Amino acid sequence: MSDCLPIEPAAPRARRSRQARVVWGDHVVTVGGDAPVRVQSMTNTDTVDVIGTAIQVKELAQAGSELVRITVNTPEAAQAVPHIREQLDRMGIVVPLVGDFHYNGHTLLTQYPACAETLSKYRINPGNVGKGDKRDRQFGQMVEAALQWNKPVRIGVNWGSLDQELLAGLMDENSRRAEPWDAKSVMYEALITSALESAAFAQELGMAPEQILLSCKVSGVQDLISVYRELAKRCDYPLHLGLTEAGMGTKGTVASTTALSILLQEGIGDTIRVSLTPQPGESRTQEVVIASEILQALGLRVFVPSVTACPGCGRTTSTTFQELAKQIDDFLRMQMPVWRKQYPGVETMKVAVMGCIVNGPGESKHADIGISLPGTGEAPAAPVFIDGEKRLTLRGEGIAQEFQKIVEDYIAKRFGAQAQAASEAA
Ligand code: SF4
Repeated sequence: MSDCLPIEPAAPRARRSRQARVVWGDHVVTVGGDAPVRVQSMTNTDTVDVIGTAIQVKELAQAGSELVRITVNTPEAAQAVPHIREQLDRMGIVVPLVGDFHYNGHTLLTQYPACAETLSKYRINPGNVGKGDKRDRQFGQMVEAALQWNKPVRIGVNWGSLDQELLAGLMDENSRRAEPWDAKSVMYEALITSALESAAFAQELGMAPEQILLSCKVSGVQDLISVYRELAKRCDYPLHLGLTEAGMGTKGTVASTTALSILLQEGIGDTIRVSLTPQPGESRTQEVVIASEILQALGLRVFVPSVTACPGCGRTTSTTFQELAKQIDDFLRMQMPVWRKQYPGVETMKVAVMGCIVNGPGESKHADIGISLPGTGEAPAAPVFIDGEKRLTLRGEGIAQEFQKIVEDYIAKRFGAQAQAASEAA
């Protein structure tokens, strides 16, 4: 044993933002401060399609999205918002709706008060509220609506729609420097200045700092990290994180995960969204699954039971353990909307599905329930470990069904008993 100091476990740094509240009815989602980092998502339906949008919001909420943003781009969309809310309320979906406004938000929020009242938060893009002398007036009208209906706002700057007058002004200023910054640094500064000046203006108009959230989205990983590190230094508003236009599939997933993980580990970020372009036929809920997985992998949140599965190698030539791992993972996720209420705490459960004797028994003992499937040349038997002890051995064709039943019974017994005890104590 060496005499060096104990190794300090890595952990995300504590955050330091204010706390905002996003409310629908009795349902309050706290954001920032000591609240958990929240998962946010956005629909891609036409908001005018009330039923289609309500169904997608429901799917996103059931997948774990705690705030859902919808596009409000036309009078018809603004008129649809209260009807979407009614549909959701009827379905028992309490998730707050956030309205995404560009260009005409001032008009829509003023002319459609039912829309303004129904939304729980407004996203304002300072680059798209108007130009010249119209800019402040139209921004002010959106803030007035937020004040009238007591709603928080997210001032969401995006480099694709950055305030060009502000950028040009900073470029001019930069050209007069003895040692001018490079163009990228000026762009970073413009993003941050746009967000902070808009927030200061909203406060001048009467908003409390606790009603303001900020975001400065860009599409490059290193750009996002640079901008948010600086933004977090300069303010204590809650920050919404996300790589804008992250892309599709593996590329979008990896880029978002990389950028968000680095910032979250540094204690930066209060809500997150993974802006994934869905692959043809892919569910919109994938962005929620990835965002939740990022938070769970970092140890910031726990959403679903985790399934540990080995990657497989030359010691197992069958696909049985891959199929079983997928089946169990799908099953646990599918059950979560019900189990979350029925079996509180079930999300902390760990299941292991392993491919052979090398790491199978060891990893299974670390899990709440684990199964070690037989590798090539091993006897056709699959020991099952429960709470660290070998309890039984499965054999034959029905291993998958039997193991799923064992998992279900374990959950009902352990987490059902906990729920019962909690309700008796209450
Ligand atoms: S547990 Fe066995 S099959 Fe799985 S990766 Fe390790 S050695 Fe290979």
